[in-house]
Amino acid sequence: MLDKVVIANRGEIALRILRACHALGIRTVAVHSTVDRNLKHVAMADESVCIGPAPSARSYLDMPAIIAAAEVTDAQAIHPGYGFLSENADFAERVEQSGFVFIGPRAETIRLMGDKVEAIRAMKEAGVPCVPGSGGPLGDEAEANIAIAREIGYPVIVKAAGGGGGRGMRVVHTEAALSAAVSTTKQEAKAAFGNDMVYMEKFLENPRHIEIQVLADGQGNAIHLGERDCSMQRRHQKVVEEAPAPGISEAERAQIGKVCVEACLRIGYRGAGTFEFLYEDGRFYFIEMNTRIQVEHPVTELVTGIDLVREQLLIAAGHPLSFRQDDVVLRGHAIECRVNAEDPETFMPSPGLIQHFHAPGGPGVRVDSHIYEGYRVPPDYDSMIGKLIVHGADREQAIARMRVALNEMVIDGIRTNIPLQQRIMRDIGFQTGGQNIHYLEKRLAERRDKSLSIG
Ligand code: ADP
Repeated sequence: MLDKVVIANRGEIALRILRACHALGIRTVAVHSTVDRNLKHVAMADESVCIGPAPSARSYLDMPAIIAAAEVTDAQAIHPGYGFLSENADFAERVEQSGFVFIGPRAETIRLMGDKVEAIRAMKEAGVPCVPGSGGPLGDEAEANIAIAREIGYPVIVKAAGGGGGRGMRVVHTEAALSAAVSTTKQEAKAAFGNDMVYMEKFLENPRHIEIQVLADGQGNAIHLGERDCSMQRRHQKVVEEAPAPGISEAERAQIGKVCVEACLRIGYRGAGTFEFLYEDGRFYFIEMNTRIQVEHPVTELVTGIDLVREQLLIAAGHPLSFRQDDVVLRGHAIECRVNAEDPETFMPSPGLIQHFHAPGGPGVRVDSHIYEGYRVPPDYDSMIGKLIVHGADREQAIARMRVALNEMVIDGIRTNIPLQQRIMRDIGFQTGGQNIHYLEKRLAERRDKSLSIG
């Protein structure tokens, strides 16, 4: 077993990793920025190292500082969490070259999946269904691009190969607009990602976002843990996630799950990972793979009973998978609401002092959060301050439990999106289930129009 792990992250996921380590008897090292001295997991870790000032570039993204922290504390492995350096192939490589275990896939796999053109090519080869598209980078010749778009059929979407976080994409509806869109996206991609490679896909008009969780040990074993529906989004950011996805049949799940497992085996995948798909008219279309633990992993944990971070640690320690596909049985329904320090109407970040905090409880209620009374949410990082996750015998019970839990949760001193989450849980469309990725934004726009007409 691993003896000591550096947690190269902050906030709720750092705490989540710490809990999994301690439950396995693994000691922990918290690395943190100067403004994060008071984080809960820093107090709970066996050791802590301050690695720099508040800006991420000088702390949580500072590779030498993190590796030095592993050296001085004599740790064996580094867990990157999500965000920050978690999908940075150079970091994974440097960690391993320095003699530590990177808790994640091989650097080579991260690099492959970080280049979307290459990732799609590899997935296609592995038999994963992809969005019809250019199948490769677009050149500068307008005529050639027009021919590709004609073949695919409008609308199309031009996307940056190195893109991420929902940036570097442009939808094109007409042939007249294509050339300008390609060159603008190229320029933006160059500026934002240092890589001007772009590709083209069919733009799916009303898809759902459905993703498959996988675990692989890199020793020839891989399983899938079913799907999550993450269609409730605002500006490509997930707001609510659930498992299983409403309306997905047992046969569909088994079929797409098997495809993902086979792809994992083919590329020698190691660790936890997620295949993200758009789902429209009964078909799955691969868009990207995330080579890390995800924010929404708890909904899968609640319906499968499998602790994904524990599995990540065991795999990193060289253990073969402790489960076979037949051991994965989905039970009931789970929903996660992300809790953000932001204004529920304007979505402006709302950092500051938490004067009062009360966490909800009861059967099937889980709170993954690092906040506490007297904690000051710094303005320097992502506004997510926690996740409220519930489990019920079925979706209806899960929604009911989420409503009660949201009502019970008290966070005073800052604004949070809890009122928005309460509205979503009361929304008839959400209760029906199976909405597409535009649903939430549409409802928010309707609400704005209504308040304008009344005001
Ligand atoms: P990123 O890495 O930036 O998140 P993705 O490829 O995962 O990029 O796409 C992000 C989001 O953009 C998707 O969740 C979806 O909402 C939208 N999108 C991407 N590709 C398409 C497509 N072909 N058709 C429709 N929407 C798309």
